Amino acid sequence: MSTQSKEQQQIGFLSLCYHYIRPDNDDPFSRLMGTKITEFKNQIKMLKEKFEMISLDDVLEFINAKIFENNKYKMLLTFDDGLSEHYNAAKILKQFDIKATFFIPTCILKERLPANPMIIHYVIAKYGIEKFLEEFRYALKKLGLEIKKYDITYVREDNDVWKKIAEIKYNFKYKLGYKISREILLHIYQNSLLIEYPNILEIIHLNKEQIHEMLEMGHRIGVHTHTHISVAATSLSDSDFFNEIVFPKKYLEDEFNVPIKSFSYPFGERKDYLSSMRFLNKTKEYDLAFTVEEIVNFGNTPLEIGRYQPMSHDNVRTLENNLSNIIKKNIL
Ligand SMILES: [Zn+2]
Repeated sequence: MSTQSKEQQQIGFLSLCYHYIRPDNDDPFSRLMGTKITEFKNQIKMLKEKFEMISLDDVLEFINAKIFENNKYKMLLTFDDGLSEHYNAAKILKQFDIKATFFIPTCILKERLPANPMIIHYVIAKYGIEKFLEEFRYALKKLGLEIKKYDITYVREDNDVWKKIAEIKYNFKYKLGYKISREILLHIYQNSLLIEYPNILEIIHLNKEQIHEMLEMGHRIGVHTHTHISVAATSLSDSDFFNEIVFPKKYLEDEFNVPIKSFSYPFGERKDYLSSMRFLNKTKEYDLAFTVEEIVNFGNTPLEIGRYQPMSHDNVRTLENNLSNIIKKNIL
C-alpha cells in the first residue's frame, strides 16, 4: 500500500445550495429572486468541467474512508426548500448524469401547506410589502396580539425595500416565536395566495409524485425541518424538536421507502445551526447535516457540512471565482 501524499490528503469537497430556479421569461411571479434556468444550465456545465461531481452516497463513503480517489476537487449539489422548480432541475441534472440531494420541509406533503419563508417570498412578490403588512396586522388582531408590540411600519418614500423585507424576515425567524410565526404566516397565506390561486401549493412546492420520480432518477432527499425554522435560534420544547427534526425523517422514510440520512439546517448560518456536539446530544438520527458556511469539507465534521449558496446575481464567472476563493482560503 502506498502512503498518501500530503496533497492528496487535502482534497475535499465543496457543496452548493440552490433555492429558486426561475424561468428566463414570463415568470408569473417575476419579482421572486433566483437563478434563471439558462444561467443554471450554464453553471452546471462549468461545474461539471471544473469539479468531479459526487453524490450524497459518495459523501457518506468519503466520511468513512477520508480519502478521495484523485486530486480533483469534488462537488455535491443540493437544493433546499422542496420547490416545484426542483423537479425540472432534477431532470436537467439527470441529462448531465449528476445526482443531487433535495432537502424537503415535510409540511408541504403532510399538511399540504407551504413552508414559512415561501409564504413571505410569494406574498411580497405578488402583492407587495404594504399588502403583506396589512394582512400581518389583521392576523395579529385575530390572534389577540398587541399590534403595537409587533408592528412593522413601511413608508415607501422613506424605507429601502430590501432592508424592509430583510426586517420582516428577521422578525419571523427570530422575534415572533415559533408558534406565532407559523400561525400568522398561515393566516396571511389563506387570505391572499390561496384565495387567488387554489392550486398555489403545487405552484410553490414539489408534490409526492414528483419526489418519487426524482428518486427514480437517482437523486436523494433529506430533511429541511417540518415548517422551515431556525433550529438553533428557536426555543423548541422536546416535542417541538421531535416534530420539526426527528419526525420528518420517519415521515419521508415511510412515504418514499428510502433511508434518510441527511438534514439541512434552514437558513443555515452560524446562529441557525447547532454544533455537531449539541446536535448529537439531541438526536442521533442523521449521519450528515448541512449549513451554509462557505468552506471546503474534509469529512471531519459530517454534521456541519458547509455549502455555498449561488445568489440570483451570480453568473458562471462570479460563481467560479467565489468557489476558487473558498478553495484558496482553505489552503492558506
Ligand atoms: Zn431553506
